[in-house]
Amino acid sequence: MSKTIAINAGSSSLKWQLYQMPEETVLAKGIIERIGLDDAISTVKFDGRSESQTLSIKDHTVAVKLLLEDLKRFGIISDFSEITGVGHRVVAGGEIFKQSALVTDEVLAQVEELAALAPLHNPANAAGIRAFREILPDITSVVVFDTAFHASMPEVAYRYPLEDKYYTDYQVRKYGAHGTSHFYVAQQAADILGKPLEDLKLITAHIGNGVSLTAVDGGKSVDTSMGFTPLAGPMMGTRSGDIDPAIIPYLVEHVPGLDDAAAVINVLNKESGILGVTGRTNDMRDLEAGVEAGDPKCQLAYDMFADRLKKFIGQYLAVLNGADALVFTAGIGENAANLRAKIVEGLTWFGLDIDPEKNVFGTTGIISTDAARVKVLVVPTDEELVIARDVEALRG
Ligand code: AMP
Repeated sequence: MSKTIAINAGSSSLKWQLYQMPEETVLAKGIIERIGLDDAISTVKFDGRSESQTLSIKDHTVAVKLLLEDLKRFGIISDFSEITGVGHRVVAGGEIFKQSALVTDEVLAQVEELAALAPLHNPANAAGIRAFREILPDITSVVVFDTAFHASMPEVAYRYPLEDKYYTDYQVRKYGAHGTSHFYVAQQAADILGKPLEDLKLITAHIGNGVSLTAVDGGKSVDTSMGFTPLAGPMMGTRSGDIDPAIIPYLVEHVPGLDDAAAVINVLNKESGILGVTGRTNDMRDLEAGVEAGDPKCQLAYDMFADRLKKFIGQYLAVLNGADALVFTAGIGENAANLRAKIVEGLTWFGLDIDPEKNVFGTTGIISTDAARVKVLVVPTDEELVIARDVEALRG
C-alpha cells in the first residue's frame, strides 16, 4: 500500500493529485493558486467535498507544506510516512531526458539548466521539486517530462531546415509537448479499438487551452505540432500557433510599444489565438456562446480554430500514410461535440466520418460511423495517472 502524489507546478500555481497505488484510486486532488501573493487560494477536493481557503503563500515550499498539512487536517492521511512517492511534471526535458527519471542533485540541476527551453515552466517545476525534497527528503521522487514521448521522432521530423550549427551548437529543434497526454490517450485508444498499440497508426489531438497533435505510429511519436517551444502548431486559446516568422521583426518595426522580439513573442503566447481574434475570450465555451449569439468575430475565431486543426490532421494523415483512428482529448477535444463534427466534416474524403448520434456531449469511446475507414474516438486524458504510474515503475 503506498500513496503517490502527482505534482504539476506552474509559476504561481501548484496542481496535485494523491493516488492510492497500485490500485490507482484518486484519494484527493487540489490546486493552490496565486502563490507569492497574500491572497493565495488553496482548494482540496476529496470524498465529494471541496474545501477552499484564502491565505498568504510566500512560495512553492510553503504551498507544499500547506497541501501536506491539509491532507492530515482532512484525515486523508494520518501520517506523512504514508506518502511514498512524488512525481513532478516537467515541461522541457531537452535532448537529455528521453524518459522519466529519479530526482538526484544532478537531475535537478539539469531541469534548471533546461529553463532556456521553457522559461515559464521549468523554473516553476524545479521549485516544486525542491519544495518536496526539503519537506519529504526520503520519498521516491520522479520527474516526468512533457517532451519525453516525442524523443522517438525521426530526425527528418524534429530538425528545422536551418544551418547545422543552430542544431548542434544551440539545440534548436522540435521537442514537442503534452507527451504524457498523447501517450496515455494512444494507449487507451488501442484498448478501445481492441488492437495492440504496436499495430496502430493514430493521430492524437490534445485540444485544450494549449493545443497539440501527434502522429503516433506503433505507439511511438513520429511527429508532433508543438515545436522548439509550445507556441508552435495550430491556433490555441491565447497562442497564435504557427505564423510567418517574418511578422515578428515587422511588428517590432511598426507597432508602438512592441519594442523587441520578446514583446512580440509575449503577444503571440498570451494575447493571440482565440483571445486575439475575438478580442474578448480564450475560452471555448464563451466562444461557442458568441457564435450562437451571432458575433462575427467569434464566428471567425471558431472557423479559424477548426480550419487549423483540420489542416494538421491532414498533415499527419500524410505523415502516417493513412491512419486507423483520430483521437480527441483535453478540455475542448473531450467536450466540444460541434467542433469535432465541424473538423471531421471536412475530412470525409480521407475516410473519417462522425455518427451524429454518437458524437454527443459527455460521450467517450468511438464516435465514428461503423463504415468509417478511419475511426474517430473521444478519450479523456489523465496526465496525473501517467505520472503516478511512472513513480511506481521507478520506485522499484
Ligand atoms: P484544458 O486546457 O484541457 O483544461 O481545456 C480548457 C478548454 O476546454 C477551455 O477552452 C474550455 O472552454 C474548454 N471546455 C471545457 N469544457 C467544455 C465544454 N463543456 N464545451 C466546450 N468546451 C469546453
